[in-house]
Amino acid sequence: MTPIAGLEAACYAIPLPVPLSDSTHGTIRAFELVTVRLRDAQGAEGIGYTYTVGTGGVAIAELVRRYLAPVVIGQDAERIEALWQRMWWALHYGGRGGSVALAVSAVDIALWDLLGRRLNRPLWRLLGGHDPAVPAYAGGIDLDFPIDALLRQTEDNLAKGFRAIKMKVGRPRLSEDVERVRIMRERLGPDLPLMVDANMRWTADQAIRAARALAPFAPVWLEEPTIPDDIAGHVRILRDGGLPIATGENLHTLHEFANLIAAGGVSFPEPDVTNCGGVTVFMKVCRLAESFNLPVTSHGAHDLTVHLLAAAPNASWLECHGFGLERFLEEPFALHEGKAVAPDRPGHGLTFAWEALAPLRVG
Ligand SMILES: [Mg+2]
Repeated sequence: MTPIAGLEAACYAIPLPVPLSDSTHGTIRAFELVTVRLRDAQGAEGIGYTYTVGTGGVAIAELVRRYLAPVVIGQDAERIEALWQRMWWALHYGGRGGSVALAVSAVDIALWDLLGRRLNRPLWRLLGGHDPAVPAYAGGIDLDFPIDALLRQTEDNLAKGFRAIKMKVGRPRLSEDVERVRIMRERLGPDLPLMVDANMRWTADQAIRAARALAPFAPVWLEEPTIPDDIAGHVRILRDGGLPIATGENLHTLHEFANLIAAGGVSFPEPDVTNCGGVTVFMKVCRLAESFNLPVTSHGAHDLTVHLLAAAPNASWLECHGFGLERFLEEPFALHEGKAVAPDRPGHGLTFAWEALAPLRVG
């Protein structure tokens, strides 16, 4: 066995190139990036990360340093399931979600990256190797954009090679959402996939009304129509609203996904590898969805997640987020004819530009 010899965590506050907006978080000017660097006794390194929309990142880095490092250092680097259990149960009393889930996710991602680098295998092959080309969509965070800015952003995304677009909904008046989606559908034509995302804005009844009003524009899905805790509400929205439902970016355990899927409250489970428990849990959610004959999509961290959806036969679309993390990554993200391509570099294949990040460190 090769034991884990070192673990470092850091938190960076990263200003966004353009302030973003959605119905729950308001205007977002910066996000926090929490990085984890694992080293084994032979000097191999694995990198993981998680992120927040602006708060809590320093606490997550401290959770990793103070409470997770002692749990994993000295242990066998290849026993990832065992390490995941050790981390989970070490913090279970104050955990089972929230910041703890983000901290465990970042370490778990680093463990899988380390394994891939040690074996000289890309993660998507290590996890099953279904298809490296994954359909991708551009996830606009654009609720407050005036229409002309919304369309300009869309033109940019189409020019970059995207062949599917997501926009925010959840404006103060439903009629505004309807008008914005109508204009977007008109611009995209009848066939280009369009998703809409309400970021939990509505009650179940409001969401049903909104879904019915937006149905004529044929969105692929309505995302996060209401709070993740309202399972019965999701079942009603799906049954009575007439649109498929995507949700999962605010579900932090395998069991939360299991409960919602088994209840029939989601059409496209949408885990985020950086907050659901890492690669270990993300892949279990993919298999769980597959067993219910459901497609799976993803939230955030597209540069990592492309590997995971490339390993899943039930992958639908990869979300490509607008946070601009690529400014701090050494390798450009590859997009060809609307599909993201999982790289063949070992592990997840990402390397951060540490020197560029250094001035932004906050914890
Ligand atoms: Mg979303």
